[in-house]
Amino acid sequence: MTDDVRRAVLAVYAAADAAIAAVGPRCDASGRCCHFTEYGHTLFISAFEAELLLAGALLCTEGPFSRDGCPYQVNGLCTAREHRPLGCRIYFCDPSFQDRMVEITEESLAALKRIADEHGTGWHYAPLHHFLNARPPVPPADTMTPPETRVPLTIVSD
Ligand code: SF4
Repeated sequence: MTDDVRRAVLAVYAAADAAIAAVGPRCDASGRCCHFTEYGHTLFISAFEAELLLAGALLCTEGPFSRDGCPYQVNGLCTAREHRPLGCRIYFCDPSFQDRMVEITEESLAALKRIADEHGTGWHYAPLHHFLNARPPVPPADTMTPPETRVPLTIVSD
């Protein structure tokens, strides 16, 4: 992701956050919205959001991940709050927020699609676990990734 795209996507996050703050929906902090199957929904995200989430928030488990829930929720709390995708920012159970929630979602997705068009990135939109399972494997902490090219050391003799 280029810096321009990152800035544009973060601006979409900021606009969504501001639109939500203007309404001030109630959050009961039940954490149920992050248990997707139990709560009857699926968290879809774009490749932009996946890249920001994976770059910014540490996954505590290696997977594989299912559509059932979010691995970033630990002890009922979101461990990816700053980097969470749009769906997490916009979704509230508050019944009085449902209509505005749909509008903010549609506005935000339209803005992301415009970014994809303007920067020619293509558009990829899928459930969260799809991106988590597709990410490159993280090497174990006690091993080193061999370099792609090996530079021979010059042998200097006395
Ligand atoms: S990223 Fe955070 S808010 Fe979003 S589903 Fe996961 S735990 Fe919940």
